[in-house]
Amino acid sequence: MRVDVVSIFGEYLAPLSLSLIGKARAQGLLDVRVHDLREHTHDRHRTVDDTPYGGGAGLLMKPEPWGEALDAVLADPPGDAGGDGPVLLVPSPVGEVFTQAVAVELAAEPWLVFACGRYEGIDARVAEHYRSRGVRVREVSLGDYVLNGGEVAVLVVVEAVARLLPGVVGNAASLAEESHAAEHDGLLEHPAYTKPASWRGLEVPAVLSSGDHGAVARWRREQALRRTARRRPDLLARLDPARCSAADRAVLAEEGYVPDAHGFGPAPSPVAD
Ligand code: SAM
Repeated sequence: MRVDVVSIFGEYLAPLSLSLIGKARAQGLLDVRVHDLREHTHDRHRTVDDTPYGGGAGLLMKPEPWGEALDAVLADPPGDAGGDGPVLLVPSPVGEVFTQAVAVELAAEPWLVFACGRYEGIDARVAEHYRSRGVRVREVSLGDYVLNGGEVAVLVVVEAVARLLPGVVGNAASLAEESHAAEHDGLLEHPAYTKPASWRGLEVPAVLSSGDHGAVARWRREQALRRTARRRPDLLARLDPARCSAADRAVLAEEGYVPDAHGFGPAPSPVAD
C-alpha cells in the first residue's frame, strides 16, 4: 500500500518508522511518503494560512498550496494504483467517525493520500474541488473532540489500516478475535489473562484452564456480550440478531437488551398499571 501525507509538520509522522509499521515499511509492504505543504508556497514567508471570509477567530489554510501539493501527489501514482486513483482522506472533526469497519475498507485500497489540516482547518473548496474531479474524498474524524492538527489522525488511521495488511501482524488470526472485528460481531473483546494463575489474591477464571475449548469459547462469548452491553450498548445496535444463538439472547436479556428493528436495544420497561 502507498500512503502519501501532506503536512506542515512532517516530523510529527516520525513514529511511522517504529514497531510493526516501521517493519512493514522496511519489508516493502507499506510505502509512506511525507510531503511538506510549504514546498508549494511562493512567498518569502511560505504562507499557508489566511483570515476566514465572514470574520471570526483563527486562520484557515489557503486553497492554493493545497491544490498544488495534492496535484503533485496525484500526478505520481503507484504502479498498482488501478483505475480508481487514491482515497483522499481529510482528517476533520466534521468527518465520518473512523471505525474498524472504515479501517477494513481502507485496507483494501492500494493508495491513500492524507491532507493534514492545521489552524481552523482547510478552505472547504479543496475537498469540493477534488470530489468534482472524481477523487474519492473522505473526511474522517477520530471522535467528538478537537485536535490541533490532522497528523495525529494520520498516525491512528495508518496504524489501524496497516495492521490489517497481509504480513504486517505476525498472527493474522488474532486480528479476527479482537474488539470491533466483524468476525467477532463488532463486540468488545472478553477479559484476557496470562500467567501466573494467581496474582495478588486474584485468580484467573477456572474455565480458562479447563482444557474444554467449547466451554472457553462460550465463556468468552458471554463475557464479550456482557462487557459490550455494560460499556458500549451503542455497539449492540449493530449486532445482527440472526447471528445470535439462544444463549447469546439469554445473556443480552439478562443485561436488559432485546432484539429490535436494528439490532439489540434496551428492553421496554413494563407498563405501569
Ligand atoms: N475549525 C475546525 C472545527 O471546528 O471543526 C477544527 C479545526 S482543528 C483545530 C485543526 C485540524 O485538526 C483539523 O483541520 C483536522 O485536520 C484536525 N482535527 C481536529 N480534530 C480532529 C478530529 N476529531 N478528528 C480528526 N482530525 C481532527
